[in-house]
Amino acid sequence: MKGAVLGIGERSEKGDFIHRPVLVREVLEALHCRPFEGKNYLDCTVGMGGHTEAILNATAPDGRVIGIDRDEEALRGTERRLHPYLERLTLRKASFKELIQIAQAFNLTEVDGILFDLGVSSVQLDHPDRGFSFQRPGPLDMRMDREQKETAADWVNRLSQVDLTEVIQKYGEERWAKRIASSIVRFRKEQGAITRTEELESIVWRATPPTERRRRIHPATRTFQALRMMVNQEMEQIEAGLEAAISLLARGGRLVVISFHSLEDRCVKQTFKKWTQKESAPRQFVNLYKKPITAGPEEVSRNRRARSAKLRALERAA
Ligand code: SAH
Repeated sequence: MKGAVLGIGERSEKGDFIHRPVLVREVLEALHCRPFEGKNYLDCTVGMGGHTEAILNATAPDGRVIGIDRDEEALRGTERRLHPYLERLTLRKASFKELIQIAQAFNLTEVDGILFDLGVSSVQLDHPDRGFSFQRPGPLDMRMDREQKETAADWVNRLSQVDLTEVIQKYGEERWAKRIASSIVRFRKEQGAITRTEELESIVWRATPPTERRRRIHPATRTFQALRMMVNQEMEQIEAGLEAAISLLARGGRLVVISFHSLEDRCVKQTFKKWTQKESAPRQFVNLYKKPITAGPEEVSRNRRARSAKLRALERAA
C-alpha cells in the first residue's frame, strides 16, 4: 500500500463489515434523551442504526424514532437488527431533501430531537463493491443511493478538464487539482474510460508531486472525497436538510449535527449562526455549545471515524 494506511475496516465475527457510531454519549446528552417522556426523534442518517438504537434505549419505553437513509441496503440491515424496537421505530428510504415530505407523511410538525451524522458509514466505505475507498479495488461507484443513475465513473469520464479541476478544488480543497484533472483526461485519451477505484487512485498518485506522497494523508483522499460529494450532491443535501430540520423543531427541541470535514462543518456553523442571530424572528434558536464537541483520545483510538468528528447542537428556545 502506498503512502499512509488510513486503517482497514473492522469486521464482525461473521465477517460482515461493521460501523461504530461516534460520540454516542455526547449525542444522547445533546438531544436531551430521557426515559418516560414520550418524545419524537428524527434520525436523518440512520445507517447501521447505532445512534438510533442508543436513542431508543435512552428514551424507553415511549420515545419514538423515525429514521431515514438514502441507502436501501443499510436500511434493510438495520430493520433486521433493530427488529425488537419496531413498535417505536419507523424506517424510510429518503434523502435530506425529502425531509419535509417524510415529516408530513407522518403528521410530524413538532420534533423534539433531530440528528445528522453526516458522510458515509464505515460499512459503505469498507465494502469494495460500493467504490468509495481508494484502498479497496472495486467499481468506481460511490452512490449512496444505488437507484440514482450516475456513478462516480460516469462523472469522471464525462466532465471536461476544467470542470474536473473545479470539482476537485472545490470539494476536495486539493492544491494539485489541475494536475490531477489533466492526468485523468490524459488517461481517458490513452487508455479509455476509468472504471475502477484502483485506476483513479493510481492516476492521482502519479499526478501528485513526490514530496506530497510522504504525508500522513494519502494523496487520493481529497480527490475521492470531492467525487463522492459531487456524485451524491452532498452540500446541497446538507443545506436543504438543515433548513428543513430547523423548520420541524418543537419548542425546546434540539438539532444535533456531526460533521467530518471542513466543508461540512463550515456549512453547519454558518447555518447555525444565521439561525441564532435572527433575534426578531418568531422562532428563536441558541447554540448549545460555544465550540464543537470532539471525541476524546480513548474513542479515537477505538474508532478511526471519530478522529475528525465535530458535533454542533442547537436548541429552539422560543
Ligand atoms: N449514525 C449511523 C451512521 C451514519 S453514516 C449509525 O450509527 O449507524 C451516514 C449515513 O447517512 C449513511 O448511511 C448515508 O447513506 C446516509 N446519508 C448521507 N447523506 C444522506 C442524505 N443526503 N440523505 C439521506 N441519507 C444520507
